[in-house]
Amino acid sequence: MAANSLPSIERIAPAEALRRLQHGAVLIDVREDDERAGGKPKGATGVPLASLASRIAGIAFDRNAEVLLTCASGARSLRAAAILQDLDYTRVASVEGGFARWKAEGLPIDAGALDADAAERYSRHLLLPEVGIAGQEKLSKARVALIGAGGLGSPSALYLAAAGIGTLTLIDDDKVDKSNLQRQVLHTDARVGVAKTESARNTLNALNPRVRIDTHEQRLRAANVEALIRDHDVVIDGADNFPTRYLLSAACLRLNIPLVYGAVHRFTGQVSVFDSRYADSPCYRCLFPQPPHSEDAPNCAEAGVLGVLPGIIGLLQANEAIKLLLGIGKPLVGRLLCFDALGATFRELRLPRDPNCPGCGANAEFRGYEDIMQVCAST
Ligand SMILES: [Zn+2]
Repeated sequence: MAANSLPSIERIAPAEALRRLQHGAVLIDVREDDERAGGKPKGATGVPLASLASRIAGIAFDRNAEVLLTCASGARSLRAAAILQDLDYTRVASVEGGFARWKAEGLPIDAGALDADAAERYSRHLLLPEVGIAGQEKLSKARVALIGAGGLGSPSALYLAAAGIGTLTLIDDDKVDKSNLQRQVLHTDARVGVAKTESARNTLNALNPRVRIDTHEQRLRAANVEALIRDHDVVIDGADNFPTRYLLSAACLRLNIPLVYGAVHRFTGQVSVFDSRYADSPCYRCLFPQPPHSEDAPNCAEAGVLGVLPGIIGLLQANEAIKLLLGIGKPLVGRLLCFDALGATFRELRLPRDPNCPGCGANAEFRGYEDIMQVCAST
């Protein structure tokens, strides 16, 4: 870059830039894409500084065309102008004060794809090409249902809300108990006795008021399961009992909604994704064909669980949900990821679809949803 050419660059006020723009000049905003997500001067073309030299010919082919440059505060636009002078552009000028001054002077603005709050809040997502503005918009339109606002649902919901999921639907009929607070970090000591859905809504709204929180203080049953999870893009299974898990599995299969499964017990946990949109995806019943007898089912209250464990497993579930919504990465479909907290080891088991599965096999027959006897599956 020709530093010695800097003093010769014309600097103009935003209002003068607008006047010249209206008389045929080209205005280029050289901020990064994520910076422009919150808006730019009306009529400006966005080209990040690093790609200006390679893209300028497509915007102003004639080197005698008048090209105005702007950025956030007026520093990068001077460098941009110098680059264009080096490329023999003869009529370049830098807009003083950048977009900050443009806005302060009330000049016309093209709304960005995201408003200023979203552009700032999600800036670390916008910097990832795999997410970017388009991905963030996908997340903002997404609807995720969480079954259970407990040990698994707490970390999942917190990070999904922080990530900017449009709607989180929380389904839980329980009230906050003091013994929950060791792991169910959505809730607080002051909210013992309050409905978990309400307590969760408070926490999530405080974290990210942009997210819509729909709550249903109900237990999932045969009679309501389809109505509650219909019209969601992903369902997160944070249930603490087998009857709910079997209902969820059947409903997600029928409604073709990916189900992100997670479970914890003492010091171990497991995660998988059952996604019937993939022909070879197993379902929950490929893993657990029949509900256990109540005497064989681990009881959550008695079994105990290391408090951080549902935190780890619930976050792996949130990670899978976000990948599914963005369509990036490789989902845990056909794979069961097992975590051992004491050994600090992960083990991945192949989980093929069972052709004789009573849920998704060739001879599986759906005979309506069924409320099976209540047994605890541990959370
Ligand atoms: Zn199956």
